[in-house]
Amino acid sequence: MEYAIDVGGTKIAFAIVDGPRLLSHDARSTAGASAETQLRLIGPLLAEMARRFDVTPQAIGLSVPGPVLANTLTHAPNMPPGWAGATIDDFSSWLGLGLPVVAQRDALMGGLGEYAFGAGSGRSSFAYLTLGTGVGGGLILEGQPLLGANGAASEIGHLTVSRSGPLCGCGRRGCVEAIASGPAIAKHYLAASGQTLDAGQVAGRARQGDQLATTVFRRAGEALGVALAAWAQVANPQLVVVGGSLAQSLDLLQPAMERELKRRAWAANLPLPIVAAELGGPAPLIGAAWAAHQAVLGHF
Ligand SMILES: [Zn+2]
Repeated sequence: MEYAIDVGGTKIAFAIVDGPRLLSHDARSTAGASAETQLRLIGPLLAEMARRFDVTPQAIGLSVPGPVLANTLTHAPNMPPGWAGATIDDFSSWLGLGLPVVAQRDALMGGLGEYAFGAGSGRSSFAYLTLGTGVGGGLILEGQPLLGANGAASEIGHLTVSRSGPLCGCGRRGCVEAIASGPAIAKHYLAASGQTLDAGQVAGRARQGDQLATTVFRRAGEALGVALAAWAQVANPQLVVVGGSLAQSLDLLQPAMERELKRRAWAANLPLPIVAAELGGPAPLIGAAWAAHQAVLGHF
């Protein structure tokens, strides 16, 4: 039994988690308040939850929107003050629960959730891809999350797939995220059709046979396929698990993803099956709790 907190750009979700199950959960808006103010509020709310359910969580898993290097959240774009630069000791002190804290970036925590209890369960090496407002990723290799020297490894969203492609929010051109995120899909559909729809609505149009919508999704799928081929060559995962809100439109992306993957990766690294995630929105909470549990056991 662990506490878990998932820090996002618009809300902070928090829960008591028992294996794959959220025993109790709630959320607060992220807007305005500093990291310290938020966590000083959430700590007592979690303690109250534990009292209500008469449980004794052993650790705290924190899913954060940026890489954690040497116990410090180094970047947290689009977040209120105090998140970037905060250390795990800061988080622990602000929460005031007196328990060990494990923090890691959200896509990796989502991947760990799928590894422990979802579509990646039973596989020791797989790639997790989250498609939504952004494109994120995590690699689990031989049962361990791949962190890299700076804790920012496997950030698939900012892999360049087109050197002269559209400008990305990170300032570079041709990142996967600039072509395949929800906002990118909406933006490209608007540019092609003059109509403002969100990515889910564009998916609806594509399913009704709208050629422009189909083309926008095909391009997004191709960009993802190019990126996955690079992952296949470098890391040779057994499986790709796709989560995030756009995973609902995986049927529209998958044919182009598979085509590009097959075209670009070596046969030795294929087949690389692409499957939908199973845990849905709570994946980072479930993964964060699991990672915290592993840390208590001394496994991480
Ligand atoms: Zn980028």
